[in-house]
Amino acid sequence: MTTSKRGAILLAAVLLAAIGCRSGQKSAKGEESPMAKKLAEYSTVRLTADLSKLTPSQKEMLPLLIDAAKQMDDVFWIEAYGDRDALLSSISDPDMRRFAEINYGPWDRLDGDAPFVPGVGPKPLGANFYPADMTKEEFEKACSESEDRASRLRGLYTLVRRDDDGKLTAEPYSVAFAPQHGVAQEKLLAAAQLAEDPGLKRYLELRAEALGNDDYTPSDLAWLDMKTNTLDIVIGPIETYEDRLFNYKAAHEAYVLIKDLDWSGRLARYTEFLPELQRGLPVPDAYKPADIGTDSDLNAYDVVYYAGDCNAGAKTIAINLPNDEEVQKQKGSRRLQLENAMRAKFDRILVPIANLLIAEDQRGQIKFDAFFENIMFHEVAHGLGIKNTIDGKGTVRAALKDQSGALEEAKADVLGLYMVTRLQESGELGKEDVRDNYVTYLAGIFRSIRFGASDAHGRSNLAQFDFFKERGAFSRDEATGTYRVDFDRMRDAVDALAAKILTIQGDGDYDAAVAFLPEGGVTDAALSGDLARVAGADIPKDIVFEQGMAVLNPGS
Ligand code: ZN
Repeated sequence: MTTSKRGAILLAAVLLAAIGCRSGQKSAKGEESPMAKKLAEYSTVRLTADLSKLTPSQKEMLPLLIDAAKQMDDVFWIEAYGDRDALLSSISDPDMRRFAEINYGPWDRLDGDAPFVPGVGPKPLGANFYPADMTKEEFEKACSESEDRASRLRGLYTLVRRDDDGKLTAEPYSVAFAPQHGVAQEKLLAAAQLAEDPGLKRYLELRAEALGNDDYTPSDLAWLDMKTNTLDIVIGPIETYEDRLFNYKAAHEAYVLIKDLDWSGRLARYTEFLPELQRGLPVPDAYKPADIGTDSDLNAYDVVYYAGDCNAGAKTIAINLPNDEEVQKQKGSRRLQLENAMRAKFDRILVPIANLLIAEDQRGQIKFDAFFENIMFHEVAHGLGIKNTIDGKGTVRAALKDQSGALEEAKADVLGLYMVTRLQESGELGKEDVRDNYVTYLAGIFRSIRFGASDAHGRSNLAQFDFFKERGAFSRDEATGTYRVDFDRMRDAVDALAAKILTIQGDGDYDAAVAFLPEGGVTDAALSGDLARVAGADIPKDIVFEQGMAVLNPGS
């Protein structure tokens, strides 16, 4: 760029800033514009990890895995919204454009998907997985035509579109996203060539194949077989939360990961207690089948790249995969704890919230170890409970449809507390104090319900808040607007809520799930006021990453 050109751009920037003053970007008093405020909801974190223990081949693999991951960003944009470039280039305010990037679209994911770009309407419940004008009734009618048609339209790995006659048709992801899948395949195969770990090599090859034929089962099985790898990548269409119409469609995402081998050993120990904990669940035997995936494993990782679904809005800090129930029955599942991302959220969000909302004498019990355990046991707890309804008619997920995700999250939270309580009582956690877990859990609820009711985690946390409040598991001090856990009542309420959720799941009781999970957001006036205080305190709601090879390896 020439000097004079740069001068012209600088001048333009000054002019734009001046115009911005009048249009409210930055007022004379120095107040932030609404968009700048929105952006400040996300605290920027550099996503780094220690690469020094990696072998030369592993170091060469990292940029290839990151390039493959980036393709998931492109696909997720299409699934969540549509044409990314058209949207971004139509936005002139740089803060708004950045906010759209963080949200992968013009709807604020931390504010119930409220549109923030002028002229944009509400987000379709089915995102861009279905035609925007399609109704549930039209979809069900099309599905009733034949079983084959229904299975294609309802498929995890198809987009629903209209053909030339306006009839609903299913387009496989491998076809719809052929260009992006093609690049990802090439990068995964190049990484496979470099892989020293045979399990990882096989997985990368099979995952590349899956992107071409929409059959992810062989690669899911290979992923579970792989135990000795240091590098890992979770990539492809995975979670169904983005499809709020039916929870049928998997959204694309990727995580590039480096395993923490020390932590992994410590974590493996807890999974040995799963059968015992399953037997001890506070429900009749019919609701706690013995055939749980006992060989599932649990690992801690530093994540070095997020893309797509998991990078949109609130960042995922714990994963439980694969979702395929047949694969789970065969080989269990793997739970991944994303340590560096977790610590970032704890420091930047949870501690400041606790300082406002937790009773002063209980604040000392807000600890990262407890936070880490609560999330860890949440993930383990997904494996407890019941997968099929007790009438034998099918899966819990099918019976509870759009409610299944939020209820499963609530189950995992409360059974996580159940586990930590039981393990502590039997001396398995050493000198840990379960009271730290309860207080940190309560602070965590406040963090989660700030997401609003659009998110499965937000809805499930609000339901838990209401339940525990009714049971007196915590109380609110009027004078200070802070909350204090009643430890004995909390313990009893954990068992009561576990029983309630497991019963709804085992019965496949859709109406009871709807009754339990609030749709309308926060209605409790005191809580609304407290959340407003948190909002006014400029505490970030979530984090956003600076990431990629330039951040990981700044010297190169
Ligand atoms: Zn979960």
